[in-house]
Amino acid sequence: MRLDDLLFTQGFGTRYDCRHIVLSGAISIDGIVHDDPDEEVSCEGLVFSYRGKEWPYFEKAIIALNKPAGYECSMKPSAHPSVMSLLPGQLRTRRVQPVGRLDVDTTGLLLLTDDGALLHRLTHPKRHVSKVYEATLKHSAADDLCARLLAGVVLDDDPKPVFAKEVQLVDGARRHLRLTLTQGKYHQVKRMIAACGNRVEALHRSAVGQYRLPDGLAPGEWCWLSSADEIFGT
Ligand code: URA
Repeated sequence: MRLDDLLFTQGFGTRYDCRHIVLSGAISIDGIVHDDPDEEVSCEGLVFSYRGKEWPYFEKAIIALNKPAGYECSMKPSAHPSVMSLLPGQLRTRRVQPVGRLDVDTTGLLLLTDDGALLHRLTHPKRHVSKVYEATLKHSAADDLCARLLAGVVLDDDPKPVFAKEVQLVDGARRHLRLTLTQGKYHQVKRMIAACGNRVEALHRSAVGQYRLPDGLAPGEWCWLSSADEIFGT
């Protein structure tokens, strides 16, 4: 692919912008400046550098953001900044969008992608992609809390119960609960816990499918996934 076309596919602006970025000498590959926009480059596995920052070439973008509290997952936020404001302009130009939503006060793993098929695969209710949440409870968990969440809880908008697939009390004080859900109802964790007479004080998502939020990724930081295999493990 031509170098200016490659930048275009990666969200670096209009074709005109991309030609000028290359001509300005801002792109290097393996430490060598490449300033000919017409140069043919091989995309597969390519990592180029733009103003000193490394950009791996991906036909489709899949990224993981460690969402801080105080950000909305909506593209058109109403009261707080959008998570999109935490991403570089190139990813916004590529139209990556959040895979599902986390509440404004929920922190942790949010996947974003510009791959429509992947978005559908991850959010379709029949796919039952698992999500792991770490909930801090207001009160120590009652003896039967885990059993009730596993058995199913009826929420106020649907007579069909919703279930946790796995539940674990992580700490001795019984206030840190780890839940795995395979459904994605509105405020599902908070409503399930409330329906059992307790309350969620803080909520953090630590995994989606087989992909765990990387330990070193600070709140507000993001990283690339190399492929959807990191989520589905195939
Ligand atoms: N369940 C909730 O209650 N909130 C979230 O943000 C995600 C799951």
